[in-house]
Amino acid sequence: MKIYHHTVRFSTNAQFQLIDVTRMVEEAVAKSGVLNGIVLIHAPHATAAIMLNEHEEGLINDILDKLRDLTEPGSRRWRHNMIDDNAHAHIGSAIIGAERIIPVINGRIARGTWQNIFFVEMDGPRSNREVVITVMGE
Ligand code: ZN
Repeated sequence: MKIYHHTVRFSTNAQFQLIDVTRMVEEAVAKSGVLNGIVLIHAPHATAAIMLNEHEEGLINDILDKLRDLTEPGSRRWRHNMIDDNAHAHIGSAIIGAERIIPVINGRIARGTWQNIFFVEMDGPRSNREVVITVMGE
């Protein structure tokens, strides 16, 4: 079995932002030489997440609006805001999750037509964000 790791680094430019990393994941899978297995997409951050969804501008803004509503940035309810100002982003990361796993079948990731892969920034702007892509299989 092959195991291939690839780390992608980038910056973000808003507090809440979805960054489409689909192409980076597809390139990593191609480079890995794995034809059948799985790809793990992981955000090594406590204030960001990974999600799958459609890349449509209206929907992207709908999701970001809902995340803002749900996580309440700046809320005095959040105890963590007494020592830091980003409790909302930790909560968003906890709810959405920091990773996704997708099957790799015949060299292609088995994502749906409307399923792109997004890094979910919730505590931006940040200059050092990463996505770790691990491809495993034959
Ligand atoms: Zn914090």
